[in-house]
Amino acid sequence: MPEPAYAKKSIRILPESLINKIAAGEVVERPASVVKELLENSIDAGATDIQVTVKNGGRDLISILDNGCGMNEADAQLAVERHATSKIVDENDLFRIQTLGFRGEALAAIASVSHFELLTCEDENKGATRIFIKGGYLEQVGKIGFPQGTKITVERLFYNTPARLKFLKTTATELQHIQQHLVQKSLAHPHIHFRLTHNRQLLLNLSGGQDLQTRIQQLFGEEFKEILMTVKHEETYLQYSGFISFPSKPRTSRRWQYIFVNDRNIKSPAVNHGVYDGYGTFLGKGQHPVFFLNLKIDPTEIDVNVHPAKTEIRFRNNQLIHTILVDQISRALKDGASRRFFGREHSHSQMSHTEVSGQIELPMEEALTLESQYSGMTFHKRKKRSTESRDLPPRGALKAKHSAELSAFNAEKTLTKIRQAPEIIQNQPSTEISESLDYAPDNLPEHEIRNLRLLLPLPLIPQNIRVLGQFRKTYIMAENEAGLLMIEQRALHERLLFDYYTEGLQKKAVAVQTFQPSLLIELSPQKSVLLEQSLEHLQLSGFSVSPFGGSTFAVNTIPEILNADQVEKVILEILDQLALFGKRGQGEEIIRDICVVVSTHASLTAEQELSLTEMEILLAQWEKIGSPMTSLQDVPILVEFSIQELERRLKR
Ligand code: ADP
Ligand code: MG
Repeated sequence: MPEPAYAKKSIRILPESLINKIAAGEVVERPASVVKELLENSIDAGATDIQVTVKNGGRDLISILDNGCGMNEADAQLAVERHATSKIVDENDLFRIQTLGFRGEALAAIASVSHFELLTCEDENKGATRIFIKGGYLEQVGKIGFPQGTKITVERLFYNTPARLKFLKTTATELQHIQQHLVQKSLAHPHIHFRLTHNRQLLLNLSGGQDLQTRIQQLFGEEFKEILMTVKHEETYLQYSGFISFPSKPRTSRRWQYIFVNDRNIKSPAVNHGVYDGYGTFLGKGQHPVFFLNLKIDPTEIDVNVHPAKTEIRFRNNQLIHTILVDQISRALKDGASRRFFGREHSHSQMSHTEVSGQIELPMEEALTLESQYSGMTFHKRKKRSTESRDLPPRGALKAKHSAELSAFNAEKTLTKIRQAPEIIQNQPSTEISESLDYAPDNLPEHEIRNLRLLLPLPLIPQNIRVLGQFRKTYIMAENEAGLLMIEQRALHERLLFDYYTEGLQKKAVAVQTFQPSLLIELSPQKSVLLEQSLEHLQLSGFSVSPFGGSTFAVNTIPEILNADQVEKVILEILDQLALFGKRGQGEEIIRDICVVVSTHASLTAEQELSLTEMEILLAQWEKIGSPMTSLQDVPILVEFSIQELERRLKR
């Protein structure tokens, strides 16, 4: 019998650089973990301004600049050693941790798997220190000019651990994970100014000095002021404050659920169940509350040292936490409900109108879960796009004035025009042809795209997905690096049209088609009244309609994505929707519903044969727009079968 491999070797202590690499395996799973650790260090250092710069999802570069306390040269040299920390001194401290970090291994671990540069200055009179480490080996220590604070630059992450490198997902996925950490930290620390730039595009710019409610609106849109109520509980054992959704405003996703315990964003079944049980029968099947809860508890009542990434904590008394929450949340909701019954729901809300400075537009937590399922999906996330659906806050709060990059980005978007397929071919003005070679509107095989209303400029061929065919006239079968994809064509087309349409709306530049002479429609008396009341909302959405005497109306323009022969049907359906709102309808909700009706009518039908070219164009458009992978009804647009899963099923 052969000797087992280990029998030949004697035990030895591993070299420090190897130990660090092993530790990196736990702490530094992906670029987002680097961002998380560095953000936590900057926050622990008391920074009020933190700028994160990332290239290619963090693969090529992650850099974090803060205005925190900085370090002197001796501390800086220690900081990059394993188990060097300023945050705990002895074992007892481990059980009363107030800072985000405490293990003293992040910097050493990150530096062992990258090209790592630390610039830091504690006292401007004494100058700044620069330390450069390559793959765990100290290459340089020196003096440099740098203001008080710290800048850490991590390049070529995982260059010496190819296995890790291979596990990285697409740029979009890695970026979303990074963004998610910024969202979490910015919610826990609304007084800090956070910026995130990716490939020179400013994705987040969250001004500092805010309170939680403003931060929520900055991130998720103003709609949140309508759906959230304040909660507060003050008691010696546990205090919390924050916002939860009114029982009448549940969501269909868990996307907006954040728990912070002593300023640390964590997952906690005890808290989660406590909140859900507090809602009790207020929540129907598939409904989820929104909550942003800041819990404060004596640090000795929790153990934060139970998870390598410190994303979970253990409460000493889970049961008690659960009971307090169920009791308090249900009480708050019942109070809220009785107020609502008397028509004063919103007076309870503390969320007020606030200037919104930057809004997040990439899909967040839910999209992350989706992305981890659909891990191989690769999108060109060249642009910020809406993640909007019925369940999402409206966009529109993004103020381009904040950065030149953003306006450049907007300028790019104005190139895009919607046309109906047949006109595209003849009337394509040359200025609208986009920069890149994969767009070739002139060569569009006209007969092949009869079914689609398309977005321009047209990428014809998807870069990262290959179409294999159509299944049951309903699904596009395709493959990408990771495996096989089944994409619901109608849900996808609806999503693209909706995102495009709402974007035009936001910019008050909906593409329309004009009727000359006007198209006349005849309505019932009730519907005419409704229509008269809704002319303004319709106008904003691209329908220019005017009374033509009696119950006849003249339609002068309609959104360009619609067909002329659909006008009457669409307007009637919009009126049905408006009737549902009654007097309580909010402008934004009304317009959103109009957009949904228009997009669903403009899109492909459930069963429709598509040519290969049409399918390719759809997917190419998807890549270009970067719409989320969820439909307007907030359900997945695609299923993915990874190669691993297929092999597992086939028992390979
Ligand atoms: P930990 O955060 O667990 O202490 P790290 O390896 O992340 O361990 O950091 C080591 C030490 O370096 C910290 O304890 C802190 O003293 C110092 N440090 C790290 N980042 C910064 C920063 N941005 N500003 C000031 N000091 C920092
Ligand atoms: Mg740390």
